[in-house]
Amino acid sequence: MKDFAFHRPASVKDAVALLKSHSSGKFLAGGQSLLPVLKLELAEPSDLISLAGIKELRDIRVDGDRVVIGALVTHDEVNRSPEVAKRIPALAQLAGLIGDAQVRNRGTLGGSVAHADPAADYPAALVALNATIATDRRKIAADDFFKGLFQTALDRDELITAVRFPIPRHAAYAKFAHRASKYAVVGVFVAETASGVRVAVTGAGAKAFRVPDMEAALGKKFAPKAFSISA
Ligand SMILES: Cc1cc2nc3c(=O)[nH]c(=O)nc-3n(C[C@H](O)[C@H](O)[C@H](O)COP(=O)(O)OP(=O)(O)OC[C@H]3O[C@@H](n4cnc5c(N)ncnc54)[C@H](O)[C@@H]3O)c2cc1C
Repeated sequence: MKDFAFHRPASVKDAVALLKSHSSGKFLAGGQSLLPVLKLELAEPSDLISLAGIKELRDIRVDGDRVVIGALVTHDEVNRSPEVAKRIPALAQLAGLIGDAQVRNRGTLGGSVAHADPAADYPAALVALNATIATDRRKIAADDFFKGLFQTALDRDELITAVRFPIPRHAAYAKFAHRASKYAVVGVFVAETASGVRVAVTGAGAKAFRVPDMEAALGKKFAPKAFSISA
């Protein structure tokens, strides 16, 4: 791992200003994806800007028909949150299926979403629930956010502050997990909301994607028997 300078700003504004002034710097959240990248010297940032001191990124709150989860909320906190369990139990369950206890204690929602690993779990939930990614400068619909393999719509110095999840009528997540890492070999998130049914798959492509045929079938009949599989 190459040497780097370390910064610990206390506000979103200062974090973004630091990254703007260090053109090969990077934000650091839980480090569960970034640190392995640094150890393998796949990236050599001059500066790491830790988000750990920014309290405003740690909230989970209900705002009308949405659950708003701060970027620095860990997978374990999502898994254990009474607000999330009550309104979107499938999301709490998904968070509890990520990696192992250490990964869930350190890894964050914002880090996972920004990293956009094709086998990550959260992207399926964001796309199926039609979530909105809030940053320091704009709001981005999940459909427009994930662009490809480890690629997102974020600008280089843009900071995710929170994700706004619409509360569905029903939702469920199932994954076939890799035995060692627990990453999704394939994961499917199904959500029924007032505006219809959305189905998103992770692990089976360069980014999470929707399945229009499944959405149409479940839109007609929201039950396992919506599909007839003929040999
Ligand atoms: C052994 C192991 C098993 C794992 N298993 C799974 C699994 O089963 N499912 C799964 O989904 N994931 C899994 N992961 C990944 C884990 O969920 C990570 O926590 C997550 O991918 C990255 O979150 P982080 O907070 O650690 O981000 P970091 O590693 O700190 O950062 C990742 C990237 O995001 C950027 N970043 C971080 N926060 C922000 C922000 N707020 N705004 C903009 N950019 C930001 C960083 O600059 C960096 O480029 C696993 C990881 C490990 C090590």
